[in-house]
Amino acid sequence: MGRFAPSPTGPLHLGSLYTALASYLDARWHNGYWLLRIDDLDTPRNRPGAVSAILACLEAFGLYWDGEIYYQSQHIQAYDDALAVLQAQKQIYGCVCSRKILDQYPGVYPGFCRDAPPCARQQALRVKTQSHLIAFTDALQGPIAENLAIQHGDFVVKRKDDIVAYQLAVVVDDHAQRINHVVRGFDLLSSTPKQWFLQNLLNYHHPEYMHVPVIVDTHGQKLSKQSYATAINFLNPGPVLWRLLALLGQNPPVQLDQASVAELLEWAVEHWQPQNLKKISAIQDTIE
Ligand code: GLU
Repeated sequence: MGRFAPSPTGPLHLGSLYTALASYLDARWHNGYWLLRIDDLDTPRNRPGAVSAILACLEAFGLYWDGEIYYQSQHIQAYDDALAVLQAQKQIYGCVCSRKILDQYPGVYPGFCRDAPPCARQQALRVKTQSHLIAFTDALQGPIAENLAIQHGDFVVKRKDDIVAYQLAVVVDDHAQRINHVVRGFDLLSSTPKQWFLQNLLNYHHPEYMHVPVIVDTHGQKLSKQSYATAINFLNPGPVLWRLLALLGQNPPVQLDQASVAELLEWAVEHWQPQNLKKISAIQDTIE
């Protein structure tokens, strides 16, 4: 069971379509389902019309998902239940540290509120990390090991503005949706040890993870919704899909460069070779 989980902050750009394609091919190659989740909890960042633009793009590229779309905003109770489990285990605590204070301790939360519970109303919730190695093997990037307590410190699972943090929501959703293969961009690899740790605390299975390189432009910048939003050619998706397959290292045959998306996807699922992906963090889109 695989999934694609875009945030509705704008239309898909080439980089997010590339990740969607990788997870689609991987799920279909495994004869698995491919689910679509809309990560819409961060309401201040949601943009009107983004969901329909995302769906239209996926459809134009033949990336049809299975079943109903799963909107995070419809599952608030599940996140609260998970927070209650962590609370009962005394694994979380309220935190009132301001950004101004935290900016003085980049990277690692110094634990100020851990032993001195604050009484202010507006609190974030942090989970207590432990000083041991979280270790797993990423299907593409290989062995990953991190000591969360030393390298990050306690991290936020519910924000001060009452929004459930990405790290917790994604873990609860992947569990609820029975996802066992997560294919996503390298930029999220640094989040995975935190998610692995939460899965341990909540007694969930760990999915297999594969973090594919993100696409960068010729200046080495990660493609952002701003820089590439309009670059996806909906009207003639075949050549764009061909180019994405080439960027995924799949060597699509030259004679398919004018093929329909259905033909290309059929070829790509059958010939999916994740080992051809580059074991790097970023890949430059030089195919113009
Ligand atoms: N919603 C996240 C994003 O758009 C992706 C979540 C995930 O794949 O775990 O970056």
